[in-house]
Amino acid sequence: MANKFPAAGYAEAMSHYIPYGRQDITQEDIDAVVEVLRSDWITQGPAIEQFEQAVANYCGAKYAVAVSSATAALHIACLAAGLGQGDILWTSPNTFVASANCGLYCGAKVNFVDIDPHTYNLSVDELERKLAWAQKQGCLPKVVVPVHLAGQSCEMERIAALSQHYGFRIIEDASHAIGGRYQGQSIGSCQFSDLAVFSFHPVKIITTGEGGMVLTNQEHLYEKLVRLRSHGITRNTDLMQGESHGSWYYQQLELGFNYRMTDIQAALGASQLQRLDEFVERRWFLANRYNQLLQDLPLILPWQHPDTKSSWHLYVILLKLDKISKTHRQVFEELRKAEIGVNLHYVPVHSQPYYQQLGFSWGDFSQAETYYQEAISLPIYYGLTQEDQDRVVMTLQEILL
Ligand SMILES: *Cc1c(COP(=O)(O)O)cnc(C)c1O
Repeated sequence: MANKFPAAGYAEAMSHYIPYGRQDITQEDIDAVVEVLRSDWITQGPAIEQFEQAVANYCGAKYAVAVSSATAALHIACLAAGLGQGDILWTSPNTFVASANCGLYCGAKVNFVDIDPHTYNLSVDELERKLAWAQKQGCLPKVVVPVHLAGQSCEMERIAALSQHYGFRIIEDASHAIGGRYQGQSIGSCQFSDLAVFSFHPVKIITTGEGGMVLTNQEHLYEKLVRLRSHGITRNTDLMQGESHGSWYYQQLELGFNYRMTDIQAALGASQLQRLDEFVERRWFLANRYNQLLQDLPLILPWQHPDTKSSWHLYVILLKLDKISKTHRQVFEELRKAEIGVNLHYVPVHSQPYYQQLGFSWGDFSQAETYYQEAISLPIYYGLTQEDQDRVVMTLQEILL
């Protein structure tokens, strides 16, 4: 067996690799998928509606639309919010590129609001300052996309108050945050937003392989999302222009896409959703355990706003570089060498070459940049054992001290 592998010890080393995140799939999940494969519908059938209903109920939102990814979800959420050419979208620079790209897909311009140095989320103080400035300049955003980094909610009540005053729409990028809470309510309730988006990529809290969802409480947004998901087509005679030609008839009312999720994926998602609270509880346990085990190291541990209860998608530490004899990069690479799959969330979006072409430069959002120079995401996921977590802690200790 051993000499099947090109390098000696390869299999052994791989068996000790601890990723930063991974899915947890049970026999029940597999059975749910197989059941759909044996049924009449494998896409856009009853499993989609069941999954949508279940997520909407869990979150306390009226409507949910399942799509092929959170990237697709962000795109149609922007279109439903009316974003188009000549409009402006603002988001955090400390996010995955998809939170900003959705604005560009719609022909809008994108700008960023620097982060809060304690939560690493979009700073609402900074948002307030920038809105006052933008009003004077005549360049107010049409859409603001707060990103709930690591699963900790942004200060939505304050953002909603600003949206009332300045008239922008709010799309929550809650890709990290299903199962999290804000002021006691489930993230995704849309109490303080127009739309909220989840991702079901395998590293996120629950998975459908690839997949995403948009939630909203507004019926007209829901209907638009459903059309945009499937080519802009409707079979609802009430929405048609003129008379229906017959029961075969459909009309394309706008330019939509094929962003559908399959029933195969939705069955997996619905099955995973049943264990969502268990997943988040385990992440809470692991996060608290990290908090205790890491407290004496030269690190800044993740601070939690009292209004929030994170889903703990990520556990991010910042290195106190003035108290360490190594660089950020050295620490990161020594962890990787020790088979600890650390990661970095995120390379500031405005520093990406594509965004630099659009006129942004390093130096534009200093808080996000400082964070990037100190942050490391440690492994955290449902199946992470205490032994493996201890190994992460001990390795970090050896590297830092
Ligand atoms: C993962 C992620 C996305 C994109 O999700 P996909 O489902 O992979 O398209 C968008 N925004 C954030 C913050 C993410 O973490």
